Amino acid sequence: MDVDRPLPTPMTPEAKPFWDGCRAEKLMLPRCEDCGHVFFYPRILCPRCHSRRIGWMQASGRGTLHSFEIAHQAFQKAWKIKPPYVLAMVQLEDSPKAIKCDMPVEVVFTKVSDDVTLPLFQPRR
Ligand SMILES: [Zn+2]
Repeated sequence: MDVDRPLPTPMTPEAKPFWDGCRAEKLMLPRCEDCGHVFFYPRILCPRCHSRRIGWMQASGRGTLHSFEIAHQAFQKAWKIKPPYVLAMVQLEDSPKAIKCDMPVEVVFTKVSDDVTLPLFQPRR
């Protein structure tokens, strides 16, 4: 098979159900079994409540175009797809808590070291 782009390494345990689902043509998303939060990318902790009880759900695969960019130059030599091509961000209908443009947010200050505190943002409650 002729590979026309860099491929991910789907061997991390936290991402394996996602890649196994893709091989079976099912879009699987991680979902926290404690708070119900659906998120992506796969990780070992829920990004909302930090629970380690992560399950999986099959998404419908339907969504809406949230944002896009038309690339007129390949950004990496490993890409053999001839530009222009579209880079798109899709809002899945199965992720009710996903971010949206114009949604209200609020600052959350996160101390990352003794000298640095980062201003991060979360959806406003
Ligand atoms: Zn959670």
